Amino acid sequence: MDKQIPVDQLTLAAAKQEIDPLKRQLTQWGKEYYEQDNPTVEDYVYDRAYERLVELEQKFPELKTSDSPTQHVGGGPTSQLTKVTHDIPMLSMGDVFSIDELMDFNARQQDNDDVEVAPEYNLELKIDGLSLSLVYENGKLVQGSTRGNGVIGEDVTANVKTIKSVPRELPEPLSIEFRGECYMPKSSFVKLNQEREAAGQSIFANPRNAAAGSLRQLDPAVTAKRDLDTFMYYIPEYQKLGLKTQSEALDKMRELGFNVNPNNRVVHSRQEITDYIEEYTAKRDQLSYGIDGIVEKVNDLDTETALGNTVKVPRWEIAYKFPPEEQVTIVRDIEWTVGRTGNVTPTAVMDPVQLAGTTVSRASLHNPDYLQEKGIRLGDTVYLHKAGDIIPEISRVDLKKRPAESKPYEIPTTCPVCGSELVHLDDEVALRCVNPMCPAQIKEGLAHFASRNAMNIDGLGPKIIQQLWDKELIHDVADLYHLTRDQLLTLDKFGDKSATNLLTSIDNSRNNSVERLLFGLGIRHVGAKAARLIMEEFHSLDRLMQASAEEVSAVDGIGPTIGDSVETYFSNKQVVKLIDELRDAGVNFDYLGATTPANPESEWNGRRVVLTGKLENMTRGEAKTWLEDHGAKVTGSVSKKTDIVIAGTAAGSKLTKAQDLGITVWDEARFAQAMKEEQ
Ligand code: NAD
Repeated sequence: MDKQIPVDQLTLAAAKQEIDPLKRQLTQWGKEYYEQDNPTVEDYVYDRAYERLVELEQKFPELKTSDSPTQHVGGGPTSQLTKVTHDIPMLSMGDVFSIDELMDFNARQQDNDDVEVAPEYNLELKIDGLSLSLVYENGKLVQGSTRGNGVIGEDVTANVKTIKSVPRELPEPLSIEFRGECYMPKSSFVKLNQEREAAGQSIFANPRNAAAGSLRQLDPAVTAKRDLDTFMYYIPEYQKLGLKTQSEALDKMRELGFNVNPNNRVVHSRQEITDYIEEYTAKRDQLSYGIDGIVEKVNDLDTETALGNTVKVPRWEIAYKFPPEEQVTIVRDIEWTVGRTGNVTPTAVMDPVQLAGTTVSRASLHNPDYLQEKGIRLGDTVYLHKAGDIIPEISRVDLKKRPAESKPYEIPTTCPVCGSELVHLDDEVALRCVNPMCPAQIKEGLAHFASRNAMNIDGLGPKIIQQLWDKELIHDVADLYHLTRDQLLTLDKFGDKSATNLLTSIDNSRNNSVERLLFGLGIRHVGAKAARLIMEEFHSLDRLMQASAEEVSAVDGIGPTIGDSVETYFSNKQVVKLIDELRDAGVNFDYLGATTPANPESEWNGRRVVLTGKLENMTRGEAKTWLEDHGAKVTGSVSKKTDIVIAGTAAGSKLTKAQDLGITVWDEARFAQAMKEEQ
């Protein structure tokens, strides 16, 4: 950002000239961020501009207007969802960017003549999601809503009911509101963006916008498909429950069955605050959810009430925001890769740099529009950060360092692999190669066919597929079933054992229940779950091939898009030939139900779980069997790769290690609830 004249050197006229466009700019950014879930600038760019506005308004109070972004909570209830009025406003939060500023805030709070503030704080992680209000009546969930503009939010009750961590009923008949954060775990954010990219849709900038976009849906079925979770952190009417401190309020919510982040800590000194901030600054990358800072709250709840709020923020809490992690590097190349559905995606290849714990040299540019909006050219010096702490992303180009000879980057018009012309389908942002014989698409399709939720052919990864392809041993998925030992032995680093293993995996896949085959064929819009629903109904592939789009879409949970897609797919002569070849190769075409996991999209699929301590209502062995049946990998020791630790009573060092690593820890009740939800 260009150097700005310090506010105290500005005249009123100069300040006025600056302040109006600044307010307009912040209002526009706020709209994009809060209402469209689609920010166009980084948070710290917004934060810096906002800080400047605060300084200008402090120096020139006459320029402060009621429509200023500093005077109201960002975000209007703009969607078509029903509006909800918050009797107790849902506020924003003040922020600081250094420990010194945080100490100044605390000192000002202590100097307050009206309220005596004991220096006891509850520190919490600032979860990068959107605020959520949950209202219960007689222990039953009756309303879920978003913050909106703080006074009027959006009714998202039906959507909230699809979130597994939100209890529909409490163990006590309470009539009270709870508040917290709705968020999307990092891994789900990555997966969602990959799916959206493959489907030619625009991607979400960070997990917060992804969570907001997913919760603020008109159709709860869409929300249900997005993996949302919650951490609850506030009981506005704490008096009703006789609570005295914020840390007790968190314990109470845990007891009631809410998901509450386990990492809060009560502290009393600068040293303890610094330690906590340093600890979580370091652990941040290992958490399974995004955090954008630390929240410090006065622990005594009556003191909180006495301190009250400004028009926009509570006086009893403050956010310490993490500094942005950025690196500067140079773009050397833009690579275009062709996905399974023909989606052609650009990736920037850059000089390698260390960023938030990893070496980064590549960043997806998603689609041509994105590349053009960022204005990236070969040879450009760029700023790199990690979106949602996880995905490397180019924030902006340093135009001052642009080489004199640089030219605008030209978007390719032909497929980098097969040379056929690229097109935009419907109003997709993606560029597509629509040649069904494009080798890149076929190879991606082969990898998909072999993948775990499809035919589950262990040992057939992209590198082996590439070699089989180069040696012209396979041209389509049916060819896999004719591979011989001798052919496999010609592959690089392929010995007798690898050949036997691969042949066994291929052979075993002949006996899969047919929904795996249906998913593996890679029909547009047919995911693993849809494939299972369809085959549960049709039982045999031959019957499905005869079915009309209407008959397919009549299956519970399947819509017309999938119905049309299935009919179109099987009406293709080449497909019919491929199916015949698969039949001749002895691949099973029938639904065998019980041989595949109950839900191939079970949220446990691929999760690494550690069991520790004593469980009351089941043995560890029973828990292990259940988890493995649902696709989880149960391991004996806790590491950075562990997703969840399920801790019974008297859990020891594994629990401590999990807490140190910031890994999600569930008690038996939480696990039992998750088991119930999987039924
Ligand atoms: P905020 O997100 O910075 O902080 C307030 C929110 O923190 C609360 O409403 C609550 O939802 C959440 N929170 C998370 N964990 C919490 C916890 N443990 N306890 C209490 N609250 C917790 O404030 P805001 O007003 O929602 O948004 C302002 C921020 O949004 C800005 O600082 C900026 O970074 C970002 N923003 C960015 C753009 C952009 O264009 N990039 C535009 C507008 C706003």
